[in-house]
Amino acid sequence: MEVTIGRTLLRLVQGDITQQEVEAIVNAANSELTGGGGVDGAIHRAGGPAIHEECMRIRREKGRLPAGQAVITTGGRLKARYVIHTVGPIWHGGGHGQDETLASAYRSSLELAENHGLRTVAFPSISTGAYGFPVERAARVALGAVRAFLSRPEGQALEEVRFVLFSGRDLEAYEQALRGMASPE
Ligand code: ADP
Repeated sequence: MEVTIGRTLLRLVQGDITQQEVEAIVNAANSELTGGGGVDGAIHRAGGPAIHEECMRIRREKGRLPAGQAVITTGGRLKARYVIHTVGPIWHGGGHGQDETLASAYRSSLELAENHGLRTVAFPSISTGAYGFPVERAARVALGAVRAFLSRPEGQALEEVRFVLFSGRDLEAYEQALRGMASPE
């Protein structure tokens, strides 16, 4: 499924984010930037040790990465030249500004991509694995944040923002959220 927002193509696909031919893929990292399970582990395995080395340098220089913020490293051996590491919120029942923190993770990642002059970026479904965010709600927040970012008058640089959903169920949730956004409220 795909729609155009401003001059940017927004695409939803099912697949493995480590295999995407885009300029940057986004990692659902943890605040320690240590690499872990889920998509984080898959990206570090596929990209090799150069990603971890840069993450550890960032950790030494900047400390922990708070939820909602993002940093950029090499893509190592990946097809993608860069990995943007962001930290989503851990689900605690929906209070505590978790939607806003999740939106901020997407926004910060897109800002970094834009600041590096990148044209194509792929996201996984941040926070909906180990961090427990319900996927239907996360899909609405994620797509809303991306749409808001791409709708800014100055937000015209990105050619494609791709969501790479691992499971058919997740793809369905994102498709439904996108359909819900497209129709008048
Ligand atoms: P978080 O800790 O932010 O919840 P996870 O990695 O546990 O991050 O899960 C985030 C999402 O990434 C989940 O929907 C999971 O199924 C998905 N995922 C895991 N591996 C991959 C992959 N190789 N490509 C795309 N998505 C993946």
